Amino acid sequence: MAEPRIVVVGAGPAGIRAAEVLATHRLPLVLVDEAPKGGGQIYRRAPDAFRRPYAARYGFEADKAQALHDAIDRLAGRIDYRPSTLVWNVFDRHLDTVSDGRTGRIAFDVLVLATGAMDRVLPIPGWTLPGVYTLGGAQIALKSQGCAVGKRVVFAGTGPLLYLVAYQYAKAGASVAAVLDTSPAATKRRALAGLAASSGTLAKGLYYWAWLAARRIAVEEGVTDIGIVGDEAVRAVRYRRDATEKSIPCDAVGMGFGLKSETQLADLAGCEFSFDPPSRQWLPERNADGESSVPGVYVAGDGAGIGGADAAELWGERIGLAVAARCGRAPDAARIAAIDRGLASLARFRAAIDRAFPVPPPETWSDRDATILCRCESIRIGEAKAAVRDFALVEMNRLKAVTRIGMGRCQGRMCGLAAAELLARDTGQPLAAVGRLRGQPPVKPMPIPWTTEA
Ligand SMILES: Cc1cc2nc3c(=O)[nH]c(=O)nc-3n(C[C@H](O)[C@H](O)[C@H](O)COP(=O)(O)OP(=O)(O)OC[C@H]3O[C@@H](n4cnc5c(N)ncnc54)[C@H](O)[C@@H]3O)c2cc1C
Repeated sequence: MAEPRIVVVGAGPAGIRAAEVLATHRLPLVLVDEAPKGGGQIYRRAPDAFRRPYAARYGFEADKAQALHDAIDRLAGRIDYRPSTLVWNVFDRHLDTVSDGRTGRIAFDVLVLATGAMDRVLPIPGWTLPGVYTLGGAQIALKSQGCAVGKRVVFAGTGPLLYLVAYQYAKAGASVAAVLDTSPAATKRRALAGLAASSGTLAKGLYYWAWLAARRIAVEEGVTDIGIVGDEAVRAVRYRRDATEKSIPCDAVGMGFGLKSETQLADLAGCEFSFDPPSRQWLPERNADGESSVPGVYVAGDGAGIGGADAAELWGERIGLAVAARCGRAPDAARIAAIDRGLASLARFRAAIDRAFPVPPPETWSDRDATILCRCESIRIGEAKAAVRDFALVEMNRLKAVTRIGMGRCQGRMCGLAAAELLARDTGQPLAAVGRLRGQPPVKPMPIPWTTEA
């Protein structure tokens, strides 16, 4: 019997480990990634000409980065690896792709979606000003281009990435004006016991915090009402702490309120989703093998729920083993049991992270009617509120139809979760009740292709 056509989307920790297992079992596969080099977000690679050493670029994670890069380099000659290729649609067991201006189509019997995550952005005043970056964007500038996003940068939001990126900037010699965390210190202290489930990661987080404090970089916790001040460019960040209004001059901001899973392809593949209260988002359902509700479609890594890079590698391997067994290869029960134990431990740590760095509720955002909610379509918070009131809207896709929120180039990847939070608040419903924006192709902005492959 012919081997099934296997496609893995995403060459980050999850996708690379899945591909590695499949290749080891001599299963032919296609590995697709929109990035020019494998590694994913955390282990993003710099252009060839850049010589910054691994330790400088990846810090404590240098060995893991090197191991993953070695793995994809070894794989590249053995599998059909297609970098710089965006998957923009899933339809009828085919993927639609675009690469270097050419569209293409890849048929699959088994699909592994390892599409990762992106920063969660909230519509705070001034967030669309030039000079405001996501935390991830600010980190990418540093990691892959070796440059800072400004001369004096404020990092604002919440989550482990907030402290990590501030540390990486300061360590690289950039001027960090302040770190503003919406999560109060007491909230984090309460989560400490759970965070100890991964003592090494906890120690790293505490180290970043202490390193910043030792250099007298202001770290403010429990801040609310963050707003970015400026007209043509960023001039300052204002915020409130303990009922006191404060302001810090700066010329750039890195902002992020945790991560959100990139689930659009799973949606287009027809996977069932369910609401995940801790992360306040809808996620594709999966069984212990990582298989979604659609037979043969697997979801791995952060794209199926934020778990971190170590969990992503384990999920990739776990799914690789499940797919290999599906293709008739002998299952490795001992390794599967070990992976499952590792994933269970990391899941406990993740739950504590969610408790330590909760998504701040809308009443703390300083949301103003004039603030842009949907950047692509230039819809302000006040316009959304008026539509909700005038049309008695209670559901996200109706909100989209009436206002165009989430209908622009980003397809709601930026504004969708925030719009849902506001709709839930304004209609007095639980977040799960307002639903989610349905995925639409193209899932990401793409060039207008000039050639179509046969
Ligand atoms: C910007 C950013 C920076 C981060 N930095 C850190 C950090 O410094 N330290 C840390 O511990 N964690 C960090 N994280 C979290 C960490 O990256 C993840 O936990 C980990 O990388 C998850 O691995 P993954 O394989 O699931 O996804 P990723 O590493 O995100 O890999 C997903 C891959 O899928 C590709 N892809 C996505 N959609 C498509 C598509 N439609 N078509 C083709 N390819 C696609 C992407 O190009 C990417 O290479 C960061 C996350 C983000 C979003």
